Amino acid sequence: MTLFEKIVAREIPADILHEDDVCIAFRDISPQAPVHFLVVPKKPIPRVAEAEFVDQATLGHLLLTAGKVATAEGVNTADGGFRVVINNGADGGETVPHLHVHVLGGRPLKWPPG
Ligand code: AMP
Repeated sequence: MTLFEKIVAREIPADILHEDDVCIAFRDISPQAPVHFLVVPKKPIPRVAEAEFVDQATLGHLLLTAGKVATAEGVNTADGGFRVVINNGADGGETVPHLHVHVLGGRPLKWPPG
């Protein structure tokens, strides 16, 4: 069972912002911005490069949910905004091998990332 499956199963506590049949969204334990949450499919797809065409609807659902939760968290404003990040593999900064979409906002974010 992955770390994030344990959060879905309530074996590990998390500050859950949203849950439906397909995904769960919860605050990152080590926030890198005033708003930083993860959107995670309940299906344990390891990373985006391992997703299959059968996962197409799930992948879209993650982005739609990211936007809706970002709006609920107050970062989808005219002068604000947010960033959506998916880390894939070691060089991409992936540390948890269960696909997750980072959503960061609440401060200006630099580009390009380090
Ligand atoms: P990544 O480096 O892209 O794989 O992102 C993994 C993220 O999961 C990191 O930002 C961690 O801070 C976060 N994380 C790890 N454990 C937990 C946890 N128990 N609850 C919430 N977020 C976590």
